[in-house]
Amino acid sequence: MSQKSYRSALVGLLGCPVDENPTVVTIEAAFRALDIDGRYITMKVLPEDLGDAIRGLKATSFLGTHITIPHKVAVLSYLDEISPNAALMGAVNTVYFRDGKICGENTDGKGFIMSLTQGGVELNAAHAVLLGAGGAARAIAVELANHGAAQLTIVNRSPERGQALARLINEKTAASARYVPLTPNFSIPSDCDILVQTTSIGLYPDPSCPHIDFSSLRPEIVVCDIIPNPIQTLFIQKAAEKGCRTFSGFDMLVNQGAFSFRLWTGKEAPIQAMKDALAAEY
Ligand code: NDP
Repeated sequence: MSQKSYRSALVGLLGCPVDENPTVVTIEAAFRALDIDGRYITMKVLPEDLGDAIRGLKATSFLGTHITIPHKVAVLSYLDEISPNAALMGAVNTVYFRDGKICGENTDGKGFIMSLTQGGVELNAAHAVLLGAGGAARAIAVELANHGAAQLTIVNRSPERGQALARLINEKTAASARYVPLTPNFSIPSDCDILVQTTSIGLYPDPSCPHIDFSSLRPEIVVCDIIPNPIQTLFIQKAAEKGCRTFSGFDMLVNQGAFSFRLWTGKEAPIQAMKDALAAEY
């Protein structure tokens, strides 16, 4: 009999709700492309069970796990180590186990930045306008500042979260930020270079989009919507009609998974195989 191993490399996703998250498709495509016997298990975990779930994954030799809503902040209390960036954001979307320790990183913002830089978008000295100030916005804002954006305008419905994010950027990064309330028919500032839609408005099955004044969009503005499903949100469609270059949440979803894959396996992720697999789902 050969020396074949019957034990798979295990990673996964903890969240609630989690059933419609398609990340399994991308990570298992990466395993297949690299000829690794690996599984990605999508797991529903209630908030009160998060600690048990993380300890269980460690005990069963998982390589790590993705963390999604509503656990990205709560997971911090179960970590032995956290990356400086994730600590700054106050949120973790990737847990990995190393040398017996539970470690946390946030790859959401890195995945977003990778989509833009791969597309040749200049971030240096840019003015970025973010709609939303939730967990994803925090990750994106910190990474935009880390990658040279000079000015951030945080546009949010609730002043508390919007002001907190602007304060974080002003106090902890080299960029300057201000908070502006999200009002109906919001007009995009005329010196905006990059507009990022990070609210959950437009996520399937919601067909709507934030009520901005689309006539204020200059065609030079790069417009991103991080909603991964549908790929062509109403927001993206309206921006494209104004002649703007657009980026959907599709590449961000693949790229953040690629960063996590490297943390779990130590291997470069086969990004094209991951994109092809995800595209086939839509
Ligand atoms: P959060 O719940 O942390 O934040 C939601 C944000 O949306 C808040 O700013 C909230 O404003 C705003 N919002 C929600 N509903 C409304 C509304 N009706 N009107 C105005 N503002 C509203 O979520 P996340 O930041 O974690 O995720 C946001 C979106 O990003 C989700 O759709 C998620 O799918 C997507 N995402 C995509 C990723 C990708 O890889 N493509 C990765 C991570 C997230 P307020 O503060 O006022 O409540």
